[in-house]
Amino acid sequence: MIELKDLTKVFRQNGQETVALRNVSLRVPKGEIFGILGQSGAGKSTLIRCVNLLERPTSGEVWVDGREITRLSPAELRAVRREMGMIFQQFNLFDSRTVAGNVAYPLEVAGWPRQRINERVAELLALVGLSDKAGAYPAQLSGGQKQRVGIARALALGPKLLLSDEATSALDPDTTRSVLDLLREINRRLGLTILLITHQMEVVKQVCDSVAILEEGQLVEQGRVLELVGRPGSRLRQLLYEPFRDTGFHVSPQGVLVALFFVGQSAEEPLISSVVRNFQVDANIVQGAVERIAGTTVGRLLVELTGRPEDVQAALQYLEARGVSPEVIQRG
Ligand code: ADP
Repeated sequence: MIELKDLTKVFRQNGQETVALRNVSLRVPKGEIFGILGQSGAGKSTLIRCVNLLERPTSGEVWVDGREITRLSPAELRAVRREMGMIFQQFNLFDSRTVAGNVAYPLEVAGWPRQRINERVAELLALVGLSDKAGAYPAQLSGGQKQRVGIARALALGPKLLLSDEATSALDPDTTRSVLDLLREINRRLGLTILLITHQMEVVKQVCDSVAILEEGQLVEQGRVLELVGRPGSRLRQLLYEPFRDTGFHVSPQGVLVALFFVGQSAEEPLISSVVRNFQVDANIVQGAVERIAGTTVGRLLVELTGRPEDVQAALQYLEARGVSPEVIQRG
């Protein structure tokens, strides 16, 4: 649905140059929820604004649904933009319009007749669960409800692509979850491709099929979320488990501290006891957790293995062969 080729964006201001994006290439498959993860200043907003050309790239190509859009005429570009909806952190609703009036806005601009607008608005409000708020004003809504209005408005013209600019950053965790659930439902029901930018790992865990990680304007990694979680040494894994690593645990001289990952496997498999039984090692469980990532159960376990180096090595190989991608965090 989207392909960025060698995208670079340089801002020049008061004789100063900021390279916001440097040679970014990335592909967003149709029908996916694709996350761009990065800290503040990484270039996420610039990237998403290059996808709808609110920002012109300094160099590189932007392909959307098979067309290179940096070369389109203004009229062609307007047509392409109608196929993209966008939602924002600060919702960007019109305070003086009701909920229905906000959702109707893009349809009015597109010149739809009143009767069709009313039908479409009713349909969209039902989709986002706000039928009973049609006559309310934004000031009377919670943050989550405001974002639902934003989503309904973004979907009004039936876009192929939804761009989300930190849409849940201003919301509390429970509301974030319910808005992300709604995005997932819309993605499934309408087959809509969603590109979202976020600095929140929770968003990636809960809703993204794939992710690209942006650091200081450069793409450091991209791929399917579960595949990256299962890959030793991946940047996503590092970011996910940074807090997990910092245990202050003192590894004994004959020991190694190992992280194990159970992606979509039964955590009931007695893997640790079979390691202890089959190899001359002891296992000391330091930390463990189970969570849902991209709709799959992911277990992680931090365990200290102690024994002769060759036995520990054999145990690690055994764990590797069992598909739990052991990663040595620390050696004693
Ligand atoms: P993020 O969305 O990840 O926080 P941004 O894309 O907003 O990052 O910004 C990336 C870099 O580009 C930052 O250093 C920012 O200061 C700079 N930048 C963004 N927009 C402009 C602009 N219009 N003029 C000058 N510099 C900008």
